This record gives sequence, C-alpha cells and structure tokens, in this order.
Amino acid sequence: PIKKVNGILESPTGTGKTLCLLCSTLAWREHFKDTISARKIAQRMNGVELFPDRPVSSWGTAATDGDVPTYYTDIPKIIYASRTHSQLTQVINELKNTVYRPKICVLGSREQLCINPEVKRQEGNHMQIYMCRMKVMARSCHFYNNVEEKSTEKELIESIMDIEDLVKNGNKHRACPYYLSRSLKQQADIIFMPYNYLLDSKSRKSHNLDLKGTVVILDEAHNVEKLCEESSSFDLTPYDLASAMDAINIVLEEQAKVVQQNEVNAEFNMELASSGLNMELEDIAKIKKILLQLENAIDAVKLPPNGSGVTKEGSYIFDLFAEAQITFQTKSSLLESLEQILQFLSGRTGIFINTSGLHKLSDIIQ
Ligand code: SF4
Repeated sequence: PIKKVNGILESPTGTGKTLCLLCSTLAWREHFKDTISARKIAQRMNGVELFPDRPVSSWGTAATDGDVPTYYTDIPKIIYASRTHSQLTQVINELKNTVYRPKICVLGSREQLCINPEVKRQEGNHMQIYMCRMKVMARSCHFYNNVEEKSTEKELIESIMDIEDLVKNGNKHRACPYYLSRSLKQQADIIFMPYNYLLDSKSRKSHNLDLKGTVVILDEAHNVEKLCEESSSFDLTPYDLASAMDAINIVLEEQAKVVQQNEVNAEFNMELASSGLNMELEDIAKIKKILLQLENAIDAVKLPPNGSGVTKEGSYIFDLFAEAQITFQTKSSLLESLEQILQFLSGRTGIFINTSGLHKLSDIIQ
C-alpha cells in the first residue's frame, strides 16, 4: 500500500532529476489507474478468475490503498511547481520527450496570459486584474465568452502546452488563455505552476487549488524557504499611502458636492442626483482617518540614527495596524468600503486617478 510520506531528493544539476520525477509519478499514476481497472474487471467476472494462480483483484495493490475501494476520480493529480515559468517550460519540454501523454495544464497570471488589447494596455497588474474582473462580470470580453466552448476542443485538451503555447493557441482560437488554463485544470492529470501559486494561500484560493490527495513536487526546492518569506511579506511606501490619500480626497470632494447639490434639489423638490457611489460621507471620511492614523503610526516608529532600520516580532504588524483601527473586527467592513470606492473610481470617466495605493492597501488588509 502507498505510504503517503514526503521525500527529499538531492542530486547535482544535469543528472536527470526532472525526468525521474516526471516519469516515476506518471508511471505510478498509470499503475493506479490499471489497478482500478483490474478491480472493476474482477467485480464483473463475479469471482471467475482469468488467471487462477494470480487473482485479478490482487493486481497492483501497491499503487492504491489496498482493500479500500477506489474510483477513477481518486487518481491523485500531480502538482509540479518550480520557481519560474521559464523553468517550467524546460520541464514541459522534457515531458514532451517522454512516452507519457498526460492531460496537462500550466497556471499563469493575467499579466502573462491576457490577450485582450484594452486590458493588456493597462499599466500595473492591479489595474489589469481589476479591469478583467469587471469585463468578466459584464461578459464584455469576447475572449472570455469563448472559453466554455473552446475548453472542450481536443487540440487544446490533449496538447502539451507551456505558457507561450497557451497564449498562441488562445489567440488562434480567440479564447482567453488565462481562463482556458483554469478550465483545463479540472481535467488535468498534471498541473504546472510557479511556487507562489502553491505557497501563497490567497493565490491558492483564487485559483481554486485543493491540495488534498495530490502529489506535490517542488522542483529546485532550495528556493522555497525564501519564497515562503516573500509570500507573507509586503511593502507599503509613503508614496502608496499618499496615492491612496489623494484618491480618497477626490472621492470625498465629489461625494460632498453631490450631497450639497441634493440639499438644493430637495428644497426645490427636484430629483436627487447620485454619483454612483452608495456610501455616506462619514464612511468615506473614516477611511481617510484610517489612512492618516496609519501614516502617523508608521512615522512614530523610532529608527536608529545609523540608518540600519528596525526588526520587530511578526505580531508587531497587528499592533501597528490596530493603531489605525485596522483589526480582525474591522477588516471585512473596511475591505467592503475599499472595494466600493475602487469600483466607483474604475468606472468613473474624466481625469485618471491613480488607485494603486488603495489597491495595495486592500491587498495587504486581505
Ligand atoms: S478574460 Fe482573459 S482575455 Fe479577457 S480581459 Fe480577462 S484575462 Fe484578458
């Protein structure tokens, strides 16, 4: 029976680690599948043995959990993670040279996979993500609308595509490669992804990655520790806070004008105006206060004169945020307000407002 333990392999570069890992896991998967088939045949034969000296039900029990009944849907998926996409491309190329032809899928970001010219043109990852989400919700990206139909195309399901092939095929079939890869993931035998998709819980959630029962391979694992550190770290610069503050000031000003206008309109029994943002002035002002308090709390941190910076316990970040009223209790209502403001700003016409600071803050709080 399978032992379900972790293994660490160390071997010099160029000794064939990748190929070993790929072939052994894929072979094991096939063995697993054969075992299930053998059991099913045995059940149908109703006790009649094809080979009396070797009962069918005993075939390949090493691959599965012995006597526990197993189904084809129990065959574990393989998750193959490496540091970068270019490393994954090399792994996928090695796979192409083997006899195995599993269904594969490679996960990437919108920045790498989006083919919508209007969204691609946006500067910064945040804006691209935001604009894409809006388009997906309104079903106004035709590349997205084609995904459902195209995700059953044999050419796309059965070919072994790296990230570049995915973009090429997405363009060819006029289907969004980003959502295509997410859809191919459902049926994939092996899923390739950079570490951060696997190690960052937010990313796992957004890609709907369930690790339960999977075989996880971390290639180049000496980089993992650093990546874990990075995935739970963030930087928030004075520029980010200033940009967030500017955006909030504009929203406050515009909303105040609407309130003023409505006071006049109400007096003359005229229809009330709306800015499209359904928030009270006080709630917007509260966000501004939080930003100011956060700025003050950061400013108040005493730095040594030699410019070496300070290092504190990890839990210190919660104390710092609490000084700006950002706590586990206020988190969800704060995020909701930020989301409303960001949505309002993205749908607003006229002068461009930089929302990167607000986006960053929202990500950090999340
Ligand atoms: S759905 Fe795909 S192609 Fe359309 S904007 Fe989003 S990532 Fe880009």
